[in-house]
Amino acid sequence: METQFSSRIKNLRRSVVRDILSFHSSNDMISFAGGLPGKEALPVEAMRKAADRVFEREGIRALQYGTTEGYNPLREWIADYLCSEGIPTGPDNILITGGSQQALDLIGRLFLNPGDQVAVTLPTYNGAIQSFELSEASLICTESDNDGPLPNEIRRAILQGAKFIYLTPTVANPSGRSISEKRRSEISEIIRTSGIPLIEDDPYSLLMFSDHSFRKMTSYMDGETILLGSFSKIVAPALRIGYIRAPENIISRMVPVKQAMDLHTSLVSQIILFEYLSHENLSKHISDAKASYRIKRDLILSELSAKLPQLKTDIPDGGVFLWGRWGSPINSSELLYLATEEGVAFVPGSSFYPDGGDNFIRINYSAPDLNRIPEGVDRLVKAYNRYHSLL
Ligand code: PMP
Repeated sequence: METQFSSRIKNLRRSVVRDILSFHSSNDMISFAGGLPGKEALPVEAMRKAADRVFEREGIRALQYGTTEGYNPLREWIADYLCSEGIPTGPDNILITGGSQQALDLIGRLFLNPGDQVAVTLPTYNGAIQSFELSEASLICTESDNDGPLPNEIRRAILQGAKFIYLTPTVANPSGRSISEKRRSEISEIIRTSGIPLIEDDPYSLLMFSDHSFRKMTSYMDGETILLGSFSKIVAPALRIGYIRAPENIISRMVPVKQAMDLHTSLVSQIILFEYLSHENLSKHISDAKASYRIKRDLILSELSAKLPQLKTDIPDGGVFLWGRWGSPINSSELLYLATEEGVAFVPGSSFYPDGGDNFIRINYSAPDLNRIPEGVDRLVKAYNRYHSLL
């Protein structure tokens, strides 16, 4: 009997990297592929203490079902943080999600019908492309310059009927670029007057290296956006805790959607995270992580420029990724195949485009150990040389 799957999953893309790694994975693999925090940035001991205190004090509650909206003290903590960023927020504006990936799924279910269009900039986060594809939406790709998406392109997307606009304004995944302050203000005005939702995906803004920080686009739009945040990159991805900040009428429409998906985000994870946030110095934790990531970024940039000058990169001011473009045309998916044979992985640029993009690669520098970075680059050079010898 032939199994009949839903039409939704017909064109759903698989992660190229997962597929290739499943063939070639070994303990010796140096991975520049995932967006994982470095080992040194995972607060194992502090989290263990937080978990111990939670289980001693309120183990029974922590192991029960919770509310769909999320654990109230955590919602309040997030609301206070957003108020400090100039975005008036109360706990009722917050919905705790299973990472911000679930927030993307929720947004798709709330807003998108098959055939709808979503405006994005390219390259764009692969998990967002995957999620919008699952909702059977198509993408309107807007052009950008160094300041960010062009205002006329945002107007075009709105005229073309985009259901919403999805942006990662600060140290975007994969490009590492940020939208300038002037452009934030210009495009916020255009989006606000159009009345269509802006999805501001913001997992990296606390990981900026320089002292500079950007105003969230949500603060330009008086909170009339859907803002996504996550604890994955600043505390630990395994907690699977992210959040949506939105006007209350939108949150209340999202609650039954989330109920149908998973009832609620893991309560034990939320309580332990809140305990951690209440006792630890998060700013110090983040600044230590950034100091380490910055050293890793500088090392990989100098290794690449010395050994692989054919790869042109920007210097990202934070986050966990380098975005590279090959000086001459290369099929990065084929190169990845050879790279994994050499024991190194990256993500081909095509993952971040609906079509094309194979002349780019994304390199993660936060996860590999510092002392493995030179060897990882050597392996990439070997793969690059083999690729050219096979042409
Ligand atoms: N948005 C962006 C831009 C990301 O880079 C990621 C993770 N790589 C996510 C959302 C999802 O993160 P999480 O579900 O772990 O919060």
